[in-house]
Amino acid sequence: MGFLDIKKATKSYGSLQVLHETDISVEEGEFLVLVGPSGCGKSTLLNMIAGLEDITSGEIAIRGRSMNGVKPADRNIAMVFQSYALYPNMTVAGNISFGMEMHGIPKPERQKRIDQVADLLQISHLLDRKPGQLSGGQRQRVAMGRALVREPDVFLFDEPLSNLDAKLRVDMRTEIKKLHQKLGTTIVYVTHDQIEALTLSTRIAVMYGGYVQQLGTPKEIYDNPANMFVAGFMGSPS
Ligand code: ADP
Ligand code: MG
Repeated sequence: MGFLDIKKATKSYGSLQVLHETDISVEEGEFLVLVGPSGCGKSTLLNMIAGLEDITSGEIAIRGRSMNGVKPADRNIAMVFQSYALYPNMTVAGNISFGMEMHGIPKPERQKRIDQVADLLQISHLLDRKPGQLSGGQRQRVAMGRALVREPDVFLFDEPLSNLDAKLRVDMRTEIKKLHQKLGTTIVYVTHDQIEALTLSTRIAVMYGGYVQQLGTPKEIYDNPANMFVAGFMGSPS
């Protein structure tokens, strides 16, 4: 048993099966990247972990507890999307605090966590601003802060950097990696960018056509691709 267990998980929309029997066991503290071309089923699998999509068959469990039928709000999971979805009329502090308020966390504790996360993400000087007064990279940090203060069991990212320009993308990649090393959070991270997958992950699941083609460490995947698709997609030397 892992920390997050995906067991024979499938997803169909009517007669269209978009995820075939998928088994992935994620250890606590792992940084798992789901990588593959557009439409291969990455977001579907991530949304099933978050509980935003029902599972058609199989099971997803956290700490041995089945999440099937458990509402998103009752899963201790936080998600960062590529669109930051910050509340425009709330300050940065308000945005970070909101989810904690919803979960009944008392004000002194909320304040403590906001300060810690703001310090960690270097946004302490932005707490009184509104999202409209921030750059793209700053908004992305706020979105991460909002997820982090929840102290989730699992942290989910869906292409969080794809709206940023190339320079900022590389900076944020470094930042996310540092954050993981510092906090040891369990992360499942979706991207279509193989470089991002290779540099960020402890393990990679390469997906294509609703199947996991290969699951392994960056080195295993790059050096010993399981098939032509993986070799081509990951840019392994032939
Ligand atoms: P990715 O995130 O890898 O780009 P998705 O998980 O979003 O891929 O989509 C996987 C497949 O499922 C795609 O073929 C997509 O068109 C299909 N799909 C996603 N959501 C729905 C839906 N609500 N109804 C029907 N098909 C869907
Ligand atoms: Mg997607």
